[in-house]
Amino acid sequence: MTVKQLIGMPGLIVNNIDCSHSLVKIYASIKAKRAKCPVCEKHSNKIHDRYTRTISDFPVFQNKTTIFLKTRKFKCQNG
Ligand SMILES: [Zn+2]
Repeated sequence: MTVKQLIGMPGLIVNNIDCSHSLVKIYASIKAKRAKCPVCEKHSNKIHDRYTRTISDFPVFQNKTTIFLKTRKFKCQNG
């Protein structure tokens, strides 16, 4: 995933942007309360795990950008 793709994502919430020393840090999370199981295609709202993904990309806004994305992992309720 690139920063450009991420910025255009529906449900993305930018919590904080920290710019210092030509380094841009974006703290973001995704609003999704449920996710679709890729196996059985049923929706699940049972949160299995939370983790932070770090995405680094080529410079945007002339600066090196790192995104810290809080992500929820959902557990399938169908098995
Ligand atoms: Zn499933």
